[in-house]
Amino acid sequence: MTEIDLDRAVDHARSRYAEARPVSAAWSERAARVMPGGNTRSILQFAPFPFRVERAAGQHLWDVDGHRYVDLLGNYTAGLLGHSPEAVLAAAKEALSTGWSLGAVHEDEVRLAELLVERFPSLEQVRFTNSGTEANLMALAAATHHTGRRRILVFRNGYHGGVLTFGRDDDPVNVPHQWLLCDYNDVAGVEAAFAEHASEIACVLVEPMQGSGGCIPADPDFLRMLQRRCRDSGALLVFDEVMTSRFSAGGAQQLLGITPDLTTLGKYLAGGLTFGAFGGRADVMAHFDAGQGGRLGHAGTFNNNVASMAGGVAALTELLGPSVLDALHARGEALRSALNEAFRSAGLAMCATGAGSLMNVHGTAGPVSRARDLRGADDRLKELFFFHCLEAGFYVARRGFIALSIEITDADVEAFLDVVRRFDPAGARNGRP
Ligand code: PMP
Repeated sequence: MTEIDLDRAVDHARSRYAEARPVSAAWSERAARVMPGGNTRSILQFAPFPFRVERAAGQHLWDVDGHRYVDLLGNYTAGLLGHSPEAVLAAAKEALSTGWSLGAVHEDEVRLAELLVERFPSLEQVRFTNSGTEANLMALAAATHHTGRRRILVFRNGYHGGVLTFGRDDDPVNVPHQWLLCDYNDVAGVEAAFAEHASEIACVLVEPMQGSGGCIPADPDFLRMLQRRCRDSGALLVFDEVMTSRFSAGGAQQLLGITPDLTTLGKYLAGGLTFGAFGGRADVMAHFDAGQGGRLGHAGTFNNNVASMAGGVAALTELLGPSVLDALHARGEALRSALNEAFRSAGLAMCATGAGSLMNVHGTAGPVSRARDLRGADDRLKELFFFHCLEAGFYVARRGFIALSIEITDADVEAFLDVVRRFDPAGARNGRP
């Protein structure tokens, strides 16, 4: 497989994709006239243009050009329950039928808060937001206020929301906190940062697995070291479990037996409806309680919106029992190892990383345990993999991300693996152009 073969194969794949989707192409032109880049969520855009979805049900999406896809992306983890789960739909409909723009407190927000506090070991108290981004912004405000310190230790390649993104050191959209950047899974680097700044660090914000950064799990000893350093220096440990909360009923923290001071949540926990939450130690959350002398406000017109609160209660009580999440986790582990086996036996310089039902395909043979291991990866292999999957009717993210939903069947997994086994970038196996 030469460089030219791969470049040509990418051009060819893009053209074939575009030719099969004229209606989506026209919509993208129309969209670009009124939305910069033609979209309102950057990750959904890819070259030459994204297919436009007409409807979704169960584990399937249908585009406006008449294609059906098995949805292996699950809205970047928010779609854990598949599309339009009955119990969530019924609960949201019922809630909406008795009014939705209440501007007042109601019952379901209490029920949902109780359910979350019961499930996640670190949550003594919790508050709701509209997104994971907001949840993290509020957790950081709580940590800086509680400690009276300004520095926040985060990790390169980490992602905590649209304004908390650390793929590069100086992202212009980030909020201007005093960031202290370290490498993920780098014990010595963190030790050095604490040695120099221990008395200034308000908190460490960390994903138990870097999700958007390519599904790179934390070494459990690395997380335990973070916890020790935080304890010793009076900083707070904040787990961003927006993605990893699905690893068990009590999240990655329960699976690992590590209880952070604060936790942030989002994605699937309101059954796929708009959701975010932050919570943790009662003494830290007390800053939001004016009755206890707390001085922190927490605004948000839609924080307790009735559809999300009702959807969340239905999701947690009817659909997301521990055995469901454990089974999904096991299915993901099996799929990831089958993907790696398929890449290995095809002799492809590709691998899949991740944990449980979250995984990412990369254009390198690996192993990948830090962001820097991805430096030499060939993005063209990933792009070709993406178009190959789409053409066969499987939707994965352009970046190679897969997030299984509970609607995905064994037959879907088998069919997907057959498609992966047929992956032949640049026609290297049979001499096709
Ligand atoms: N934290 C993590 C770990 C995430 O993966 C995401 C979203 N991908 C966020 C925070 C932000 O969540 P939201 O998109 O709901 O703002």
